[in-house]
Amino acid sequence: MSDKIITVTSPLLPSLDEFEPLLRDIWERKWLTNNGYYHKQLEAALAEYLGVEYISLFTNGTLPLITALQAMRITGEVITTPYSFVATTHSIWWNGLTPVFVDVDPATGNLDPQKIEEAITPKTTAIMPVHVYGNPCDIEAIQEIADRYGLAVIYDAAHAFNVKVNGRTILDAGDMNTLSFHATKTYNTVEGGALICHDARTKKRIDYLKNFGFAGETTVVAPGINSKMDEIRSAYGLCNLKHIDNAIAARKQVAQKYRAALANIPGISMFAERDDVTYNYSYFPIFVNEKEYGISRDSLYEKMKEHNVLGRRYFYPLISSFAIYRGLPSATKENLPVATRMADEVICLPMHAGLTDEDVNRVLSLIKKEF
Ligand SMILES: *Cc1c(COP(=O)(O)O)cnc(C)c1O
Repeated sequence: MSDKIITVTSPLLPSLDEFEPLLRDIWERKWLTNNGYYHKQLEAALAEYLGVEYISLFTNGTLPLITALQAMRITGEVITTPYSFVATTHSIWWNGLTPVFVDVDPATGNLDPQKIEEAITPKTTAIMPVHVYGNPCDIEAIQEIADRYGLAVIYDAAHAFNVKVNGRTILDAGDMNTLSFHATKTYNTVEGGALICHDARTKKRIDYLKNFGFAGETTVVAPGINSKMDEIRSAYGLCNLKHIDNAIAARKQVAQKYRAALANIPGISMFAERDDVTYNYSYFPIFVNEKEYGISRDSLYEKMKEHNVLGRRYFYPLISSFAIYRGLPSATKENLPVATRMADEVICLPMHAGLTDEDVNRVLSLIKKEF
């Protein structure tokens, strides 16, 4: 048994040699936050790289979700997915709104559009879908429903950094899109995030909201929060942006090896890849069917851990099963059978740019029960 611990993820880091001159420059400038030089540069660089026009940087990926709901003045009920990171639903709660959980499509792990429609009530004002693992939602079907019922659509695109369909970004779908640049994500600024919108007027409002609502030296136009990204992380983010294409290419290699080796193991399934999608390979989830595989998901997870291979049960438990949300009428297992099964079967395999062939083979041998 190898002692080297294989972690589920490992952060993309710029080299200190490229980061240090920028730090020295920040020391010279003596301007540390509040829309500084590097903040402006990173906003512009990300807009260009991602192919979006209006993007606002944030201090993490949760505050843009909270701010998007504020900016659009959402009220009442928000339809969302239980199969995500808990921040998605928390952002709804922080706005005093009611989350309504809707089941997911087994082919993608994303909100099932037909079930969205069934969950709409007179109080529904918005839909908050997640492109889980970077799998694109059925954007057209969701937009069609939103347009028919007059609902806002705010995508939690935390996993969808630079994901494209037919060569075109999905980060301009719906009304707004949020990103997370947390250390564990494909692209990181240590902590960080962004909110993408469609017009200059909305961006202005978002930028007020992330700075206490200040619209000038003495004018406060909204009860805003403080969610500004600082100069140090902006500079770090500029450095990391130079490496993201290589990192995604390396992740793709790992994904291809996993996919080929796991294709014919009874009881192990994966999402199908679409030809028209450019993925970012942010996660590699597999689903363990205990009956066919002969071993439960949790037993495999523990076996991997014993052998120093750390998978993660993302997303388990379902958000809807946490004590704070499980009393909601939409939180029942009967309402969420697909999400419940996925949460019970999922393991995300180690996935990052630093995995060697040997690492990948060690992960694979465990799934092939070579314990
Ligand atoms: C990571 C993540 C967030 C929160 O982002 P932070 O930067 O950690 O605040 C929100 N939604 C999803 C789906 C995430 O995976």
